Amino acid sequence: MIKQIRGLHHVTSLASNARDNNAFFTDVLGLRRIKKTVNFDQPNVYHLYYGDEGGTPGTVMTYFPFPGMHKGAPGTGEVGSTRFAVPKGSLSFWRQRFEDKGMAGSEMNNAFGEQSIAFQGPDDDGFELIEVADDGRVGWTGNGVGEQAAIHGFHSASMRLRDAEATGELLSFMGYEQIDKAGNTTRYAVAGGNEANIIDIETLPSADHADQGAGSVHHIAFAVEDRAAQLEVRKALMDTGYQVTPVIDRDYFWAIYFRTPGGVLFEVATNEPGFDRDEDTAHLGEALKLPTQHEHLRERLEETLQPL
Ligand code: ZN
Repeated sequence: MIKQIRGLHHVTSLASNARDNNAFFTDVLGLRRIKKTVNFDQPNVYHLYYGDEGGTPGTVMTYFPFPGMHKGAPGTGEVGSTRFAVPKGSLSFWRQRFEDKGMAGSEMNNAFGEQSIAFQGPDDDGFELIEVADDGRVGWTGNGVGEQAAIHGFHSASMRLRDAEATGELLSFMGYEQIDKAGNTTRYAVAGGNEANIIDIETLPSADHADQGAGSVHHIAFAVEDRAAQLEVRKALMDTGYQVTPVIDRDYFWAIYFRTPGGVLFEVATNEPGFDRDEDTAHLGEALKLPTQHEHLRERLEETLQPL
């Protein structure tokens, strides 16, 4: 069994408009933009990162905004809801804020003994804020969101699958333990994690498969401490029959990817070297940062990428 996973590292989704996406995460949710770079495989598209002050693994929501991308259709084989942890007693603040910002359709819920509010992003992305007591993480404040309400990082990600069994077995192999079940949802948690420790699987045997597009989660990444731990995880997955990519340098972390039985793309990413490797923590996310292989494109990209 794998023992090196420390919870979620980041969640990466797709969007249709970079400026709307940036405004939503900073002005509405009050996260900090911690990196403005490009998709390393398609450098004419941004890769935007939002999180806490330093972009601590377990707080980092990232987006590829493809201008004008068609909207995804929700279904199985994907992460349907990305959940953030907020302080106890803050949901009324958030509900009011969403109303003030003209967002329709947010919904108060209670599941697994937790109070939450479900809402949608600019491309109908599925999100929830869940009240958590005793979350030791410190949220980024500003843009009208104070300490009493600030997002602490991820609470969990929830997958929708036709058949939960094989993916449940994979999570167990990755060090997660089944801790609860409510209705058609099974909850898994990893011990010794970074507080973004929960994964839910919602089983929908007869639902249609999702059509990936703007508003869809592209992949979720799990955190490991360093490259040595990542190589151990890679070997364990491959020994079990998973096809795993070679280790890829993403400048701020090292990444491996593999497809899960239920269709969701998983990544395992290192906590090292982190988002302050090429700019000061005080100025994270301000300048356009390009990986070395795309630095020669800077002039063109500065002209063609939509101003945020
Ligand atoms: Zn990723």
